[in-house]
Amino acid sequence: MLVVMKAYATDEQIQRACEMVKELGFEPHPMPGPTRTAIGITGNKDAVDPSHFEVLPGVERAISVTKPYRFVTLDRHPEKTVVRIGDATIGGDELAIIAGPCAIESRPQALAIGEAVRRSGARFFRGGAFKPRTSPYAFQGLGEEGLKILAEVREVYGLKIVTEALDEAGVDLVEKYGDMIQIGARNMQNFSLLRRAGRSHLPVLLKRGLAATLDEWLLAAEYIMSEGNYNVVLCERGVRTFAQHTRNTLDLASIPAVRRISHLPVVVDPSHGTGKNYMVIPLACAGVAVGADGLIVEVHDQPEKALSDGAQALTLDQYDQLIQEVRPIHEVVAPQPVA
Ligand code: PEP
Ligand code: MN
Repeated sequence: MLVVMKAYATDEQIQRACEMVKELGFEPHPMPGPTRTAIGITGNKDAVDPSHFEVLPGVERAISVTKPYRFVTLDRHPEKTVVRIGDATIGGDELAIIAGPCAIESRPQALAIGEAVRRSGARFFRGGAFKPRTSPYAFQGLGEEGLKILAEVREVYGLKIVTEALDEAGVDLVEKYGDMIQIGARNMQNFSLLRRAGRSHLPVLLKRGLAATLDEWLLAAEYIMSEGNYNVVLCERGVRTFAQHTRNTLDLASIPAVRRISHLPVVVDPSHGTGKNYMVIPLACAGVAVGADGLIVEVHDQPEKALSDGAQALTLDQYDQLIQEVRPIHEVVAPQPVA
């Protein structure tokens, strides 16, 4: 932390700010300049709350230098995290593809889509049994019955199941039937849910909140990791902006931004990130091109009949095309193994 004093701050005010640093148990380092004094702080392990200083007379502002993270940061874990789910990985050499319908609607629907996902070489199947819908009257998912269908998809095709838990009881159920807990955008700051997921033995796919900053997203991951679960994958799924040509604005700059700070893998969701079927393939390609570790994408055998998010679902043929387009991009982007 750097405490910047006002240009006219008195010696007493500078002294008072230094005392506050000591009262907090740290060491002040006043640095007088030609017009103002700045006070550096050492001895703190975590970020210091700037409000301790900003309320003091003569203080212009307090600038935090220490990042508020312990577990997500590259500072304490310089190697990239590879999340392992059985024999599949996210964050390793392979491009992780998580594909499937928005919601599990029926056994034939899930099995038909599961077959196409398996055939494409993807390792993960997505599908919601509990859906976070804007309206309470919209299709809410099949609940536990949907999870049983997902377990059957896993059994038949050997795919790993990624599915959303809306609440703590939902985590118990996902643990029973699934392989990875999805925490949705609307729940990114549901702290009791994050803590519960942090006590799970399953890895967590943490979607970025609709209006979450990078710090808020990473601190949500911090909640999970601080409970002992280090298998967290971040998912960029777009944020709310003034744009009307898309459902959300897919913030692909967050991928290199996360990379600079964190060792956690990041996947891109071009389905929720655009909301429009015809934009999914180009944005998936762009996501892979900027270095995403994988994609989560909605696919439906009959998008026109989908009970949720039909407008953004790829048909099975379009999904095959997406796979053909993204794989060569990943080959070019991924670091080549050292010979
Ligand atoms: C979903 O994956 O179907 C979903 C509801 O996503 P999000 O939480 O990103 O809106
Ligand atoms: Mn959806």
